[in-house]
Amino acid sequence: MINLILFGPPGSGKGTQAARLVDHYHLTHISTGDLFRYEIGNDTPLGRQAKAYMAEGRLVPDEVTIGMLRNKVESSGDTQGFIFDGFPRTLPQAEALDAFLAERGESVTGLISLEVDEEEIVQRILLRGASSGRADDNDESVIRNRISVYHAETSPVKDHYAPTGRVRHVYGMGTIDEITERLREAIDGLIG
Ligand code: AMP
Repeated sequence: MINLILFGPPGSGKGTQAARLVDHYHLTHISTGDLFRYEIGNDTPLGRQAKAYMAEGRLVPDEVTIGMLRNKVESSGDTQGFIFDGFPRTLPQAEALDAFLAERGESVTGLISLEVDEEEIVQRILLRGASSGRADDNDESVIRNRISVYHAETSPVKDHYAPTGRVRHVYGMGTIDEITERLREAIDGLIG
């Protein structure tokens, strides 16, 4: 089973690239942000829990996020593996993922980190916000908050996996096709 973590700050292109990679490698894409948006759209109890955090660009509490992720993996049926997009975003989430995969006799195949210039990120997110309608993409102070949360809470996840020797850095600037190509090279190296 392949378990890839697509990593990077908000606006680094994880969602766009994950959608392309799952087709190529026949994997299941799990985006915790998309799952939360779905729950919010359906006004479920989980959605109601997540809503205020997302609106402010803060992280939804780990217990809520980890439980949702577990349910999604367990209900995914037949698949050759997963691309996790936007998860894990904290050290406790990474540890929970490792433990959960270990229960299934699996482990993280690799973490691929998309490297993007910070100012480019803000511009990309604002551009995306104009068409996505995402409230958290339309307010520059919320966007900046998401980026600082990334630095404070999420970037340590990369260091957590570094000792496994399965962390790859991919330059995330250029055309979408160019970046997909670089990601494929990195993934082929990890699974090959
Ligand atoms: P994203 O679509 O990945 O940019 O996520 C949008 C928002 O959903 C984030 O700013 C968080 O509020 C929430 N979120 C998504 N994934 C997670 C996660 N793994 N842990 C906590 N909050 C998350």
